[in-house]
Amino acid sequence: MQLSEFPLTALMEITSRPPLVFMRGEGSWIWDHEGRKYLDYVQGWAVNCLGHSPRAVVDALARQAATLVNPSPAFWNAPSAKLAKLLVDHSAFDRVFFANTGAEANEGAIKLARKWGAKHRGGAYEIATFEHAFHGRTLATMSASDRAGWDKLFEPKVPGFPKARLNDLESVRRAVNERTVAVMLEPIQGESGVLPATDAFLVELRAFTRDRGLLLILDEVQTGVGRTGKLFAYEHAGIEPDIMTLGKGIGGGVPLAALLAREAACCFDHGDQGGTYNGNPLMTAVGCAVMEAVLAPGFLGGVTERGQYLAEALRRLSARRGLGEVRGRGLLLALDLGSEIGGRVVDAARQGGLLLNSPRPHTLRFMPALTVSAAEIDAMLASLDDAIAAVRG
Ligand code: PLP
Repeated sequence: MQLSEFPLTALMEITSRPPLVFMRGEGSWIWDHEGRKYLDYVQGWAVNCLGHSPRAVVDALARQAATLVNPSPAFWNAPSAKLAKLLVDHSAFDRVFFANTGAEANEGAIKLARKWGAKHRGGAYEIATFEHAFHGRTLATMSASDRAGWDKLFEPKVPGFPKARLNDLESVRRAVNERTVAVMLEPIQGESGVLPATDAFLVELRAFTRDRGLLLILDEVQTGVGRTGKLFAYEHAGIEPDIMTLGKGIGGGVPLAALLAREAACCFDHGDQGGTYNGNPLMTAVGCAVMEAVLAPGFLGGVTERGQYLAEALRRLSARRGLGEVRGRGLLLALDLGSEIGGRVVDAARQGGLLLNSPRPHTLRFMPALTVSAAEIDAMLASLDDAIAAVRG
């Protein structure tokens, strides 16, 4: 098909997109409107954890669509209960509220913390968040985030999100006062270029928040559900947060997110939280299929192994081409390019049949399917090498 055959101008303009319409995907591969094939290291923005259209997701959708799509959130349904049980059985949390997007799950975490502050901390409502954080695009989650250009956008801001510096406990101490109810962070700041909180910092932060009677909220929208080689990234540090949010990977590509909390933090009264689509059986049936795949013996070990394989290969490429550091964990990695050529490398890679992401002008981010093969890692590196060579002339 020709690009002109698609009525693209009927869509609201919100970002610049390359002149491609994607039509079909399978595993690590995706095909455009001209039938051209690409190796996909974006994967729906780190959401297709089992790759494009995996059998488990297709079957769960088909089975559930033919059975029950939405009885309304005013009634129980079986897949949501099953998925909640799978999540609490494999995490530090006691209860789950399902949402549709990561931002909505984070909005729910903010509401839960504020409610807890109102009930147990004399009305404390501030949540210390971090420089370079990304928590979503609702008004509250934008205020909790710290993105260049967002400080003057959609004023007035939602108040109550003082910023600390990642891996700097002193800065957290400074951001906390008698109005503070929680500290909220991503274990790895993905959108800001894969900037990890160290395990030592997470341990310190857990001890600090416990001492001060504050909730610790982890935004695992990007890091959760196997992305870093553990089911949840907080496990690497051996800590247990009070609240966690999930999105992206939990749905394997469909809109599903979750807010998880320990019993002591579960303080919503009836009517405080809800939503027409929240916990619908169609999406939560997919979540069950994803969790069963990720929990299967050997799956997480495979993510760790291929993550190390990818990281080592990127380090060799970096050394050979004189680039910068490789950061991240599991299959959420970044390569520092040493100069602001990220956008041009992404364009050149796409022309060579590889989809990549550059979250910052000097950084490439790699977020393949967790099922990516070693051969698909080798193929990506060959294309990336060509793209870097083309950009550098
Ligand atoms: N939190 C983190 C850490 C994210 O990476 C993202 C999305 O990139 C979000 C929240 C927002 O998720 P969503 O786009 O599903 O609202």
